[in-house]
Amino acid sequence: MIGAGIVGLATARALRQRGATVTIYERGVAGAGQSGGESRVFRHAHDDPRLVVAARDSRAIWDEWADELGIETVSSDGALTIGPHVDAKLALLRDVDGIGAHEVDPSDLAELLPLLGPFDGPAFLDPRGGSIRTTATIEALVAELATNLVHDEVLQVRQTSAGRTEVRTGGRTVQHDHVVVCAGRGTPAIARSVGLELPVKQSTHVRCTFEPADRPPPRAACLQDSSGVFGETGIYAASGPDRATYAVGLSDTAGVRDDGTIIDATALADLADRAAKYVSRALPGLSAVPIGVRHCWVTELPWSSDGVAAWSRPGLTLVAGHNLFKLAPWLGGLLAASALGDGLDDRLRPESRLGAAPESNA
Ligand SMILES: Cc1cc2nc3c(=O)[nH]c(=O)nc-3n(C[C@H](O)[C@H](O)[C@H](O)COP(=O)(O)OP(=O)(O)OC[C@H]3O[C@@H](n4cnc5c(N)ncnc54)[C@H](O)[C@@H]3O)c2cc1C
Repeated sequence: MIGAGIVGLATARALRQRGATVTIYERGVAGAGQSGGESRVFRHAHDDPRLVVAARDSRAIWDEWADELGIETVSSDGALTIGPHVDAKLALLRDVDGIGAHEVDPSDLAELLPLLGPFDGPAFLDPRGGSIRTTATIEALVAELATNLVHDEVLQVRQTSAGRTEVRTGGRTVQHDHVVVCAGRGTPAIARSVGLELPVKQSTHVRCTFEPADRPPPRAACLQDSSGVFGETGIYAASGPDRATYAVGLSDTAGVRDDGTIIDATALADLADRAAKYVSRALPGLSAVPIGVRHCWVTELPWSSDGVAAWSRPGLTLVAGHNLFKLAPWLGGLLAASALGDGLDDRLRPESRLGAAPESNA
C-alpha cells in the first residue's frame, strides 16, 4: 500500500480483515494529505446512479466501522440539498433502496439546520447523509494499523520479471506480491514510473470553518446549496463534532500549472472571502469570521468532479478521483479484492467512467 490517507487506510483495513499481510508506506503524516481536517459531507446524491448505489453500500460499512472502532463515524443529522436540481436528484435517490431521501417543506428547514436563514425554494433531506467524523476515524484507523505503517517516501515502483512488484523508498527496496497505490496527489507520479499516464487534473481548494454565533444548535444537517439565492451556486458545508463548528466551502477551485504552482496568487484568498460572504448572507446562525481554514489539493478525473477509477496491472492497482472520503470504506474493499487476485471491479475500470452522468456516457 502506498499512501495512508483515508483510501489507503480503508484498503489496508479490508486487506487485514481478509488475512493479508500489509505494509503501508507514508511519506508524511498519515491522514494529513487530502484527507486532512475535520469533517466531510456524506451524501448519497450523485449524477451517476452507480455511485448512488456505491455510496449506499459505503454508508453501511461506515456503520460497521462505528461499531468496530467504537466511535461515531457519520453524524445522524442528515444532509440537506437546496436549489433547482432537487427533483432530478431525488428521482435518482428514490430508485435505490435503503436511502429514504425525501422533500422538505421550507417550514421544516429551521429544525434540520437552525443555522440557515430564510429559504422557501425546493429542498430535500438525505437522512442517512451527515458529517463524517474524519479526525476520529483517521485516528482510530491509524491506531489499528500502526504496526503496518512505514514512514518513508516511495520514489519508484517497478514490476519485476518474476511477477512481483518492487517498491523503492528512501531507505529500502522491497518486493511485494501486489502494490495498491492510494497516494492522492502523488499517484500520477508513481503511475508514470510504470509507464502509465493518468488523466488526473490538479487544482487547489479552500474551505473555512466558522463557529455558531450563539451556542451549538441541536441539529446541523450538512448543506449543499446550488440555489444562488444567497449569491453562490456551489456551496457545501458540514458540522464538526458536537456541532461546535460548521465548515463551508465552494466547489470552485484554484487552477495550478503542471509543475504544481498556483496560477493566480489571489485565487485562494478570493475563494475564502466568498465563503465568508456566503456565511454572512445564508447562515446567520454562524459568526461570519472564520476560525480555521483547510487548504488542499484536488485531484479530479475528466468526466466528473465525483469521478473515480482504478488502473490495474499485474501486481499493481492504482486509484484516483475526488470526493472519495465518503466512498473510502466501499472503495477499500474493492481495492483489497483487486490486490488479493479477485480482479478489479468493472465499475472501477477507467472506461466505466464511474461518476459521470448517464447522458454524458451515451
Ligand atoms: C477541504 C476538502 C473538502 C472535501 N470535501 C469532501 C466531502 O465533503 N466529501 C468527500 O467524500 N470528500 C471530500 N473531499 C475529498 C476527500 O477528502 C479526498 O478525496 C480523500 O480524502 C482522498 O483520500 P486519499 O487517501 O485518496 O488521498 P490522501 O488523503 O491525499 O492520501 C494520500 C497519501 O499518500 C501519501 N503519499 C503521496 N505520495 C507518496 C509517496 N511517493 N510515498 C509515500 N507516501 C505518499 C501522502 O502523503 C498522503 O498521506 C474533500 C477534500 C478537501 C481537502
